[in-house]
Amino acid sequence: MSIKDNLEHIRGRIAAACARSGRDPDSVRLVAVSKTKPAAMIDEAAAAGQIIFGESYVQDFLGKIEEVRSKPEWHFIGALQSNKVKYLRGKVVLIHSVDRLSLAREVDRQWGKLGRTVDILLQVNIGGEETKAGTAEEELKNLVRRTAELPNVRIRGLMTLPPFLDDPEEVRPYFRRLRELADGIRKLGIAGVEMEELSMGMSHDFEVAVEEGATLVRVGTAIFGERERK
Ligand SMILES: *Cc1c(COP(=O)(O)O)cnc(C)c1O
Repeated sequence: MSIKDNLEHIRGRIAAACARSGRDPDSVRLVAVSKTKPAAMIDEAAAAGQIIFGESYVQDFLGKIEEVRSKPEWHFIGALQSNKVKYLRGKVVLIHSVDRLSLAREVDRQWGKLGRTVDILLQVNIGGEETKAGTAEEELKNLVRRTAELPNVRIRGLMTLPPFLDDPEEVRPYFRRLRELADGIRKLGIAGVEMEELSMGMSHDFEVAVEEGATLVRVGTAIFGERERK
């Protein structure tokens, strides 16, 4: 199947998951995860109507933005070291993976140099897996409060990368938990904190994520095919 066919198929599955759960299909945006994929594939997806692309590796991303001819909306979704934030400055519209105050501060500082604000999501490690990025659930409220004080970042919601489980139904409790955490934070009514976005769901489990309230699903393999190991 072509990238265009894959995109159509995925959009159809998102729409069906929305219908099952009584949601408006326009409330879910598809992030095409193009990490390690060449610029030509991004242009091909863009020509098929795909708008948002998610990247995970800073160097790989910087090379590609020079080559891509379309004008995508770039999101950064991967683990991020503070010393690399400067390379993303002004080039991405949403960072999904802010998981600690030191990183939030550096994002704030870099976008401050541009005199601009950037949208971020706070990444939560719901599974509590030691190898995964993300703030611990117990730390989340504190991170929200401290990050909300930074003038150049706007917290738009939460992101999670749950454990990989073969049966997507087994991932459902993790997605539900992220939604509950967002609801809890919204109730705190902290100035400047929105909880409108839930970034959750990947190629093998995005339908369950949509049923549980995802507003951004991050899909790579199901659009572009298997990745080379990096
Ligand atoms: C690679 C990646 C994805 C996409 O995974 P697929 O299984 O290829 O759909 C989604 N989110 C993050 C954070 C990723 O690193």
